[in-house]
This record gives sequence, C-alpha cells and structure tokens, in this order.
Amino acid sequence: MKNIVLLFFTLLVSPLAHAFRDQSVQQVQWLVVGAGPAGIATIGVLHDLGVPYELIAWVDPDFNVGRVGEFYGTVPANNNNKQFIDFVNACATFKECQGEAVEKLRHEDPASFAELNIMIPALRELSAYLRTKLISYQGWLQDLHFSGQTWCSVVNDRKIHANYVVLATGSHPRELNYKDVSVIPLDHALDKNTLSSYIDKNNTIGVIGGSHSAILILKYLYELEVKKIINFYRSPIVYTVDMGTWSLNAIAGLKGTVAKWAREVLEGPTPPKNIYRIYNDGAALEKYLPECNKIVYAVGFEPNDTPLTSEHQPVTYNDANGIIAPRLFGIGIAFPEIYVDPSNGTIDHRVGLKSFMDYAQRLIPQWVHGLGSNLEERTRLAKQKCILEQFADLFAIDLL
Ligand SMILES: Cc1cc2nc3c(=O)[nH]c(=O)nc-3n(C[C@H](O)[C@H](O)[C@H](O)COP(=O)(O)OP(=O)(O)OC[C@H]3O[C@@H](n4cnc5c(N)ncnc54)[C@H](O)[C@@H]3O)c2cc1C
Repeated sequence: MKNIVLLFFTLLVSPLAHAFRDQSVQQVQWLVVGAGPAGIATIGVLHDLGVPYELIAWVDPDFNVGRVGEFYGTVPANNNNKQFIDFVNACATFKECQGEAVEKLRHEDPASFAELNIMIPALRELSAYLRTKLISYQGWLQDLHFSGQTWCSVVNDRKIHANYVVLATGSHPRELNYKDVSVIPLDHALDKNTLSSYIDKNNTIGVIGGSHSAILILKYLYELEVKKIINFYRSPIVYTVDMGTWSLNAIAGLKGTVAKWAREVLEGPTPPKNIYRIYNDGAALEKYLPECNKIVYAVGFEPNDTPLTSEHQPVTYNDANGIIAPRLFGIGIAFPEIYVDPSNGTIDHRVGLKSFMDYAQRLIPQWVHGLGSNLEERTRLAKQKCILEQFADLFAIDLL
C-alpha cells in the first residue's frame, strides 16, 4: 500500500511540483548577462562591494570567457601580461579562487607580450569558481523589460526578476556587403591555422580594414605565402607610442607583435612584394575587388543584440557612466567607456580586460549606491540629449 501511495505521488505530484518549479520566478538583486571578461569583472566587483552571492544571478550560453575564449586564443595580445595579471589580482573575490591557471598567470613575466591564450584558462577557472557560488543559468536571456517595479526576463523557461541588471553582452565582427565575393569570417581569419584551411597559395585574398585585426591577418597571409594580398584601407597605420605618463594613439595604435611586424616588414625597408595596400575608395574597389578569390572584413565590431524587448529598442547608453536606464547598466566591448586622447583630443572608447576592470571598479560602486539617487541628478540624466531619451519617463519616477 505504501508503495502504491509513493507511486501515486511520484506520478502525479512530482510532475506538478516540477511544473510549479519551472513556472516559479527567481527573484534576485543583481542580474549579470554575459560571461566574457566584462561579465567576470562585474561579478568580482559586485561581490567585493558586499553583494552576497545568493543575490546575484549570472547568465551566459557557454560560460567560456565570451568571444575571446571561443575564437581569439592565438591572437597576439596588444598589451603586456601585466594587464592580465592586474585583472586577476584586482578583486579580493578572485583571490578566493585557488586554481592552477590563475596561479600560473600570476607568475608570468609581466613585461612580456604573449598570445591571448595566456589569460583565457585563468578566466575560465574564475568563471567556473564563481558559478559554484552564485545562481547561474546556461542559456540566452530574453524578453528583458521593465515591469514598473523590477526588470523581468526569461532564461530557458525560468523567469528572473531583478532589481538591477548589467548587460555585458559583447560584440561581433562587423561585415560589409561587397557583392559577388566569398567571405572568410573574421573570427576564423584571426587564427592562422583556421585561416589556412580557407585559402590556396595561388589565391588573391582581399583584406578590408587597417587596424590591429587587419594587419594581423596580412601577417598571417604573408607567412602562409599567399600569391597576392590586397589590403583595402581607409586610414594610415598608426602606432602606440609610450610617452611616459601617457600613450600617443593609445587606443587606435598598433602594439606588441603586430606593431613590430608592421614596422619591420610591412612598412620596413623592403616591403613584401605580394602585399598591395590600396586606399579604399569606390574606384579602387571596383578595379581590384574582382581579382580577389576571397575577402576578410576586418572593419571593427558592433554590439550584439541585447535581450531588451522591442519597446526598449534601440538601446543607447551613457558612455561616461554606463547607464542605459534606471537600474540597467552596460559594460564591456558593447558598452565601452569614453576615452579622450590627451595628445589630440580624439574621442575613442576603451576596450580590453584591464580597462573593463578599471571601469567596473570606478562605476559599480556608484551603481550599487545609487548614482542619480537624488532628483536633480535624475532630471539631468533624463534630459540628456540623444541618449537615454526613450527611458526619460523611467528616470522621472522614484527608482534608484
Ligand atoms: C583581435 C582582438 C584582439 C584582442 N586583444 C586584446 C588584448 O590584447 N588585450 C585585451 O585585454 N583584450 C583583447 N581583446 C579582447 C577584448 O578585450 C574584447 O573586447 C573582450 O573580450 C570583450 O569582452 P566582453 O566581456 O565585453 O564581451 P564578450 O567576450 O563578447 O562576451 C559577451 C558574452 O555575453 C554573452 N551574451 C550575449 N547576449 C546574451 C544574452 N542575451 N544572454 C546571455 N548571454 C549573452 C555572449 O554569448 C558572450 O559569452 C581582443 C579582441 C580581439 C577581437
């Protein structure tokens, strides 16, 4: 009899309980979307500031250190190891993780330049450690909208309600639409082995762009002894120059291995005969593009779609404080911090692990303690032209 009752409960009650659990809402204080370097930095800083793990939910489809973890391990870093060591040493929370890879990174030569693989295992380890502590969901967060009280969203079948949301949702390579030519995806071209599987030595390959990624791909194609390489560029190559207390061309300039190759080979005394650098205007494109068997677009990155619902589109943010809307913030390559080059006043945006960490440590305390918590500040934010306009009503109510 006891067994029959047990069976009855197993068959009837358990599925109901399961259905009930699936329907239930996970209520958290902070929801962090994305587990690339920016998401990892955000979790570390939130916990350093005293937000308990139990009040943080973290969502990512892979938890594999974002795009850099998936594709860019063999890319030569454009900063020295110190920037990566500083990243893992920046948070007290990260020191809780006693992993081998984190320890290994801490003992690397800070002055050397390496491939990005030097830091990816350490970030994987931190990510795995943090997931054992907080609430994490593997999947895509969707349907993020403001209910009037909280930010509501769904991951898999689970609803998540959060008081604060941080979007660290990353970017993807931008593509243009040149007709009738086969395209090698940038993510694949940035790994020399994968690139080699797309090409034949007798090919003519076009590379569109002139920054770090484009020059790195020229280097790879040159080393792979491709017959002809046409680089369609718009801006001349610039190099970062250390000026002591500041750097000339800090963001846009070439650095590390790529800068060395560009200086010594591409722009050296005897430039490679198989590389043609052509200013990319309409006429040049018309003339030389038909020669190319394949091309690579190395023309920068654009933000991934965010999980915000259509009513909150398009998404804009304040690049001085990361605010997208009240209690909704952005960080990382998709929402980078503004940077003004002290040498010439050029405005750019800072990307890279250390800059995400610096930004997180400077801004998240303000997010936690309520930047804009007084009416005057909220009104100023609501009035900001162009950005945050669609959220002006939200700024006007008492949220923060
Ligand atoms: C050529 C190249 C060279 C580089 N060199 C350097 C360097 O020398 N030094 C350096 O510090 N950095 C370097 N980087 C990396 C650079 O720092 C990147 O900007 C950084 O990896 C971006 O991190 P992120 O966390 O902002 O975004 P990502 O790494 O793109 O992570 C975003 C994550 O969010 C997830 N996501 C998106 N939408 C959702 C959703 N709706 N729900 C759940 N999850 C979601 C994505 O799946 C992804 O996992 C380089 C990058 C490139 C391409």
